[in-house]
Amino acid sequence: MEITFYGVRGTVAVPGPETNEFGGNTPCVHIRTKKEYNIIIDAGTGICGLSRKLLATPLGKGQGEISILLSHTHLDHIQGFPFFIPVFIPGNRIQVYGSHPEESDLKTILDGQLQASFSPIYGMSNFAATLDIKELDAQPLSIDGTTVTHSMMPHRGIKSTAYRIEEDGKALVYMSDVEHEGGHAGENAVQFAQSAQILIHDTHFTAEDYAKSRGSGHSSIETAIELAKRANVRQLVMFHYSPDYSDDVIREIYRRYNDQSGLTLIPAQEGLKLIL
Ligand SMILES: [Zn+2]
Ligand SMILES: [Zn+2]
Repeated sequence: MEITFYGVRGTVAVPGPETNEFGGNTPCVHIRTKKEYNIIIDAGTGICGLSRKLLATPLGKGQGEISILLSHTHLDHIQGFPFFIPVFIPGNRIQVYGSHPEESDLKTILDGQLQASFSPIYGMSNFAATLDIKELDAQPLSIDGTTVTHSMMPHRGIKSTAYRIEEDGKALVYMSDVEHEGGHAGENAVQFAQSAQILIHDTHFTAEDYAKSRGSGHSSIETAIELAKRANVRQLVMFHYSPDYSDDVIREIYRRYNDQSGLTLIPAQEGLKLIL
C-alpha cells in the first residue's frame, strides 16, 4: 500500500510561514491499496487538498468508490468533510466508518456540522453522492483486499479509534489522539500495534510539555517511542503535532530523538509518501 500524508497537525489548522515545512492542516492520511482502492483516515482540513487530487480518478467522474475511516469526531478530524468534493458528484459511493460516539450517533454528529448555523449546505442530505455511514462492530472490515481491525484508545473522557490495516501480511497502525493511562501504553495498545511495519502515533507533545499538560488526551514523543519498542515496531511516524510547534521545534524534536530512539523515526509531513 502507498501511504500519503495530507494533514499532520493536531487540534487546529495553523497555516503560515512557521509551519510550511511540515504543514498546518489537521489529520488526513490517504492510503492507496495494491488494487488502487482509496482509503482515507480522518477528514481534517488536509482532506481538501486530497480531494482535488482525487478528481483525477473515477471519483472525479462520479464513478468512484472510497472508504473513510474516522478515529473520532473531534472537529480537527471531521471539519474537512463538508469540503470533500467527491461528495458533491452524483454517482460516487462513499463509505464512512467510525465507532459509535458515546453522546450520539455518527450520522447525527457528521450532519450537525452541516446545519444552517455552520454551513450553507444544510445537511448531508444535500450531498449528491451515495453516502453510507457505518458504525464499527467487533468484526474486522474487509476493504478491497485489505483487512481493517480497530481498537478503542483513551482520549480525555472519550475514546478514539485506532486502526490496523493489513495487506499482504504487512500492517500499518494509526493511533492518533490518545493519552495512555499514566503516559504508558497499556497491554491492549501494545498488542494492537504488535509487529506492525509502520506505526503512526500521536506525538502531540515533547516530554517536557506533556508533563505540564497531563490529562489533555494526547501523548508525548517518549510515550510513542516506548510503545513502538514494546510492540516491536521499527518505523514510528510522528503525528498530530501541537499547533504551537513551529517547523523549527518539530525538526529539533526529530533530531533529539532520532538517534537515541533506536527506531526509524519519521516526522509526518504534508506530501510525505511511504510505501509498505
Ligand atoms: Zn485531534
Ligand atoms: Zn481528539
